[in-house]
Amino acid sequence: MIIVMQAGATAEQLEHVIKKIEDLGYRPHVMHGVERNVIGAIGDERGKARLQTIENMAGVESVVPILKPYKLASLEVRKERTIIEVKGAGIGGKELMVIAGPCSVESEEQILASARAVKAAGANVFRGGAYKPRTSPYAFQGMGEEGLKLLAAARDATGLPIITEVMNPRDLDLIVKYTDIIQIGARNVQNFALLKEVGQTQKPVLLKRGMATTLQELLMSAEYILSEGNEEVILCERGIRTFETATRNTLDLSCIPVLKRMSHLPIVIDPSHAVGTWQYVPSMARAAVAAGADGLMIEVHPNPEEALSDGPQSLKPERFRKLMEDLVPFVNASGKTMPAQRA
Ligand code: PEP
Ligand code: MN
Repeated sequence: MIIVMQAGATAEQLEHVIKKIEDLGYRPHVMHGVERNVIGAIGDERGKARLQTIENMAGVESVVPILKPYKLASLEVRKERTIIEVKGAGIGGKELMVIAGPCSVESEEQILASARAVKAAGANVFRGGAYKPRTSPYAFQGMGEEGLKLLAAARDATGLPIITEVMNPRDLDLIVKYTDIIQIGARNVQNFALLKEVGQTQKPVLLKRGMATTLQELLMSAEYILSEGNEEVILCERGIRTFETATRNTLDLSCIPVLKRMSHLPIVIDPSHAVGTWQYVPSMARAAVAAGADGLMIEVHPNPEEALSDGPQSLKPERFRKLMEDLVPFVNASGKTMPAQRA
């Protein structure tokens, strides 16, 4: 349910309503608006009729049901677009967010070379996996904590905030100690236990759409994180499975306008995992920006032929630099700005 407060409602009246929501066994999420405050009351759907009684409380204008199954993620609850601050960069705001870096952390030399290259080309977030979800148990599984330390060293060397994937709730505390943004990979999009755990952290979460996840299901997964109290969720499209085999997956760019009508959460497009071949990455990156994406995630490796994972889809630093240049007119046309250079 959404409780809409009157324009002139006092802070005390707001407090009373919040207390009442809690007494009824629901979780209040207050959204402070310019003119009026709105409270989302989230909890067991079955007892929601009891919330209707709040309509008679002082300072309350109306109590209305949230029609969508995703509540906190929906535009019904929050009309303004969410902007997530990460070390001075506002994700979902005017500035395009460009996350770039290798698929996996492999060595100190590889990670520092990658971080310096993507920083020089103008990326504003650095990526690298230390825990890798591999199809084969015999493939490289990531460097674990050693990899997290190398990512932190790359942040120290460049000033770029870092993002890395968590696969297992057991590793979450450790990952939170090192990373600025937590990534939930496509394969874990419906790992609800993991989603609840990251929902209890204070770190922004980039949630990847699974290869067979509908947009409504993606938002329901976001809802798991939001409903635990973490409001900083970034949605990421990385390609879905279709009958087409010429590309690794099929990039669903239509998710951008669709998600913008469904949700206030920022949207990042990952063309690398979608197409699976570096030659196709730049055009899809430009198309994503033109369609209104809030950010891009691009795999970049100093020596893709030697990469321990996802080499075929990784851009060499020089090609990434060229992509960043070629993005400029598309970024300008979309009404955004290129990532600002920060110290
Ligand atoms: C990755 O970002 O390297 C990754 C494993 O992505 P996805 O979960 O989209 O496959
Ligand atoms: Mn990868």
